[in-house]
Amino acid sequence: MTAPRLQLILSLLVVAIIGLGCERPADLDDASSSSPEQATADEPVILVSIDGVRHDYLELHGAPTLERLRDEGAYVERFIASFPTKTFPNHYTLVTGLHPGNHGVVSNTMYDPEFGERFSMGNDDAVTDGKWWDDGEPIWVTAEQQGRTAATYFWPGSEAEIDGIRPSHWVPYDGRVPGTDRVDQVLEWLELPEAERPSFLTLYFSKVDSRGHRYGPDSEEVGQALREVDGYIQRLFDGLDERGIRANVLIGSDHGMAPISPDRTILMDEHIDTDDVFIVDYTPVAMMNTRDGVDPAPIIEALDALDQVDAYHRDDIPAELHFEGHRRIPEIIAIAEDTWSLSTTGYFERNRDRLEGGAHGYPQQNDSMQSLLIAHGPAFESGKRIDTLQFVDVYPLMTHLLDLNPAPHDGSLEAAQRLLNPEYAPAAAAR
Ligand code: AMP
Ligand code: ZN
Ligand code: ZN
Repeated sequence: MTAPRLQLILSLLVVAIIGLGCERPADLDDASSSSPEQATADEPVILVSIDGVRHDYLELHGAPTLERLRDEGAYVERFIASFPTKTFPNHYTLVTGLHPGNHGVVSNTMYDPEFGERFSMGNDDAVTDGKWWDDGEPIWVTAEQQGRTAATYFWPGSEAEIDGIRPSHWVPYDGRVPGTDRVDQVLEWLELPEAERPSFLTLYFSKVDSRGHRYGPDSEEVGQALREVDGYIQRLFDGLDERGIRANVLIGSDHGMAPISPDRTILMDEHIDTDDVFIVDYTPVAMMNTRDGVDPAPIIEALDALDQVDAYHRDDIPAELHFEGHRRIPEIIAIAEDTWSLSTTGYFERNRDRLEGGAHGYPQQNDSMQSLLIAHGPAFESGKRIDTLQFVDVYPLMTHLLDLNPAPHDGSLEAAQRLLNPEYAPAAAAR
């Protein structure tokens, strides 16, 4: 007998003994058959982010557990982020189904003209303040509002109260916490009594990204980091198996990584008068606002004239970038060609180490910025491969799996449903 089957029988016994089964049609449906369609919204969804894994990393570097899960589960070969391909905007897109122009986290570093304040990832006051996040509704808010429990082991936005709600279980960001502790906490949450047990969880690892920045995407250091995180994923699946927990696990990444070099750096102050602008974010997408009375047109023209730069006014950004609609999008957006960096002489001198190794932020259409998604669990079709999926499609997928009413979003459930086991029906549909 398999562990999940044993667990099912044990839970039935418990339900029968304590006599609480009468109001639980979903549980009874779940228990009535062992075929794949028994997968129900009672199964937790675990969203795992391995920061900065490019779509080709498994072939390039090797990661035995991820490769096995990819082959056993459903797999997206090109997982397409939103612009800019930075960590905070894209993690928030994954959990809201909104492009950054709609959820408002338009980069890792932002300026809000209404608040008159700046946001950066390392600024705890900003990161924990819901006013930066509440233009989007993350799935943990959707879940908690609909009577479910959510738990986050790190996720941008999870430390703030959004619409008056936090995940029931969450932890302040601390990149020093060992990966094994993160996994063990997630497993512990899954063993809580039913009233506190989460049905949506997150897990996050940053090391592949930080090594990618420092050493570049092709380096052995990135390979080592990937295999280290691969070990944490193995620990997660071993822990689920030992406990007989069936879960739908999404393992993806927020963007890829491109090699950069100080030799491929454009010093913007050689082409524009940087006293005319406030630079909000530097590279590889420079975002800036003009000072009072300064005409942005000649600045945009001068930057756009460079071979390795496309520069736009915020009102003319190409539609395929879906980067519009929010006051936090600065007036001028200058995008470097893949593998190039944007800087100023001063920034270059202060941050030379950030201009070599690897970077991301470029348009999501760039091959180098595309990541991958593995979908493993009873809801997904084993062995299924799809060529592309957009990040915005993940929120409707997860609300579907959890039988939640989604908030308005920019994604397509239809696109994401291609990953599903055709026999699968969430509990509500089966009722
Ligand atoms: P990026 O600069 O876009 O490469 O961002 C990656 C970095 O974001 C990680 O190395 C972490 O230092 C940081 N980070 C990731 N998640 C969080 C979080 N929830 N809170 C604060 N910082 C974070
Ligand atoms: Zn990232
Ligand atoms: Zn990064």
